[in-house]
Amino acid sequence: MGKIVLKSVRKAFGEVDVIPGLDLTIEDGEFVVFVGPSGCGKSTLLRLIAGLEDLTSGTMHIDAREVTSAPPAQRGLAMVFQSYALYPHMSVRKNIAFPLKMAGASPEEQEKKVTAAAKVLNLTNYLDRRPGQLSGGQRQRVAIGRAIVREPSAFLFDEPLSNLDAALRVTMRQEITELHQSLKTTMIYVTHDQVEAMTMADKIVVLNAGRIEQVGSPMELYHKPANTFVAGFIGSPK
Ligand code: ADP
Ligand code: MG
Repeated sequence: MGKIVLKSVRKAFGEVDVIPGLDLTIEDGEFVVFVGPSGCGKSTLLRLIAGLEDLTSGTMHIDAREVTSAPPAQRGLAMVFQSYALYPHMSVRKNIAFPLKMAGASPEEQEKKVTAAAKVLNLTNYLDRRPGQLSGGQRQRVAIGRAIVREPSAFLFDEPLSNLDAALRVTMRQEITELHQSLKTTMIYVTHDQVEAMTMADKIVVLNAGRIEQVGSPMELYHKPANTFVAGFIGSPK
């Protein structure tokens, strides 16, 4: 289950209110995209959800459980980082299995889950390679595989494709969308790229200076932008 509810969430760094106060509900199984210009607070909001930053005030629930002060490991979420963060000296198999090993899973269970994740991600033939022997897209898939084996209630992506070239970005976009369709797990995806938002999201959250300008489906935002900021950002004619 992966319903995430934020209430009056505020985040200040020193004197600066990066997120002045925000309410948001993400339904179980939704593909939600946080979009907005650089510096608007997308990564901060994702890191608050992941538990990598403390809230200044407000609350957060995952399903019925309050997780406002829970450490990242207790939230059941998996963050996929932009920089891959793979271990270069380990095989793909060991990279994917790493969180399972840390959690004390048996070698049999590790192998079973790694095999299943590799199948979903088309990595079956690459399990014995090291990250340096893979393409950028394959490395990104290994990073996703490492998240999948933990069977999280939601995946959190922070601009996962920004290091890839344009053609590969299109392919990976499609692959992540297909992954969502097959896993049906909540996904929160941060990007500054309007095209990614419009093509991938069930629901788009448009952020501007730490505030939500509008929440809606791509169609709603395109046809009924709430204001000129959304219209300008999404590219509709208003
Ligand atoms: P985005 O991901 O949308 O580009 P960020 O969430 O990274 O934006 O940053 C939002 C704002 O918060 C920026 O002005 C940034 O400088 C500031 N910020 C982010 N992290 C910190 C931090 N650890 N300390 C101080 N300011 C920060
Ligand atoms: Mg960011």
